[in-house]
Amino acid sequence: MKYPAIRNYVAGQGVDSSAATLDVMSPLSGQLISTVPLSSAAALDEAVQAAKVAFPSWSAMPIKERVQIFYRYKTLLERDMKALADLVREENGKTYDEARAEVEKAIELTEFACSMPQLIQGEFLEVSKGVEARAERKPLGVVASIAPFNFPNMVPHWTIPNALVLGNTMILKPSEQVPLSAVKIAELLKEAGLPDGVLNIVNGDREIVEAICDHPAIQAVSFVGSTKIAKVVYIRATSNLKRCVALGGAKNHLMVLPDAHPEMTASNVAASMSGCAGQRCMAGSTMVGVGAVDGIVAKIVEEARKIIPGQNLGSVISKEAKARIEQHITEAEAAGAKVLLDGRNAVVPGHEEGYYVGATVIDYVTPDMRIAQEEVFGPVLAIMRTNTLDEALAIENANPYGNAAAVFTASGSSARYVMDHANAGMIGINIGVPVPREPFSFGGWNESKFGACDITGKSSIEFWTQLKKTTTKWNPESRVNWMS
Ligand code: NAD
Repeated sequence: MKYPAIRNYVAGQGVDSSAATLDVMSPLSGQLISTVPLSSAAALDEAVQAAKVAFPSWSAMPIKERVQIFYRYKTLLERDMKALADLVREENGKTYDEARAEVEKAIELTEFACSMPQLIQGEFLEVSKGVEARAERKPLGVVASIAPFNFPNMVPHWTIPNALVLGNTMILKPSEQVPLSAVKIAELLKEAGLPDGVLNIVNGDREIVEAICDHPAIQAVSFVGSTKIAKVVYIRATSNLKRCVALGGAKNHLMVLPDAHPEMTASNVAASMSGCAGQRCMAGSTMVGVGAVDGIVAKIVEEARKIIPGQNLGSVISKEAKARIEQHITEAEAAGAKVLLDGRNAVVPGHEEGYYVGATVIDYVTPDMRIAQEEVFGPVLAIMRTNTLDEALAIENANPYGNAAAVFTASGSSARYVMDHANAGMIGINIGVPVPREPFSFGGWNESKFGACDITGKSSIEFWTQLKKTTTKWNPESRVNWMS
């Protein structure tokens, strides 16, 4: 194996476990690169106890001191950028540039957390004569973060810097498919000076997630993954009276109007559907072409043809994912859609065992087809056609998800109309992947997110803290006028 067997990380130490293990395969080569323990509820409890022990001194440390650790951590992320990106590439299958962009985003998230002292200043008011009220943000205690496979480095950074800077201690549960990046994150945080027990990592799958939702000492759970599991986690965590924000899957619609800039639209749409091999919750997997857009569709195909597996297109995560994506294409074709560019059976010379799917463009998809309804999570663009923008919006509005939606147009009023009427949390105007960058918050609507707050940015401050309100009055008679 290229990497040592993954261990849990508790109180600043790697911990051996007698749990059964799962193989970790590199999707680039189909080769075994490590193993990951499928930890038990007892292993989780050990980590929670460590996080509980660390909480009093960590939360008592002034926030201006806590952020110093994250300033140092940011420089370590920069120092080790290449190693971190290589790790993401190897375990997830992204291209090097995509893997590097993920680490750059982790740095941006860390920078935001470093600005927290400026953002969470409390409130203070004399509410009646001699009576003062103040409100300040306090951490929750031990919290948990459960991550998916598609961003092994970035998604843990959606939660770790903010939750920790705000004074919480954490259990991280990485995806069992990509557990390597988390080990390196913990090592760098320790090097930056994070006290032992503030961040703990417990690996595993369903059993450990259920144990997190049930553990009485965990106050809040953040989850990122598929809608099916997000629902289960949200219901289970909240029924155990925890705070929970659970981000789910997506089906993002890109509405292309005839007045859109052809080249800009084509490159944006092609990049949106194929970036990270389509394994992004922000992927524009469905395009709705309104009116006469054949010329733009032709340019999208031209752009997509330049996306070559093994060069500027990474692999998908597993053999099963490849089979599922190719099945979607086959079914759509059988149902009458027209495959304009076919990425099935892609083979990369020298990486014949890697899990590659080529960029695929399918036109004349109809809303009743499975490919129009389900999250495909591969480099596949399904194009639907309508005559009017209202029809396009009706299709977008009818889908159960609500992560992102975008419109491509030269008309400000059409753009504004989509902004007002798309039923999604993140809207793009001539932008195919409208990720709100810090200090804005990331989070979708509908079946793409359960829970009140977003997971990053300013909204996450609300999630990771609780308000303490103090009302103070001193008896004026008790004032001593020190004369002696
Ligand atoms: P997943 O739901 O299979 O797994 C996510 C996490 O849940 C993993 O840590 C996994 O171990 C755990 N898990 C899996 N099965 C479980 C079960 N039965 N019970 C309890 N826990 C379980 O998701 P994935 O395949 O790792 O990630 C891809 C999905 O994540 C896509 O649907 C994608 O859209 C979504 N995603 C959403 C966002 C967002 O911001 N909305 C961001 C990234 C990924």
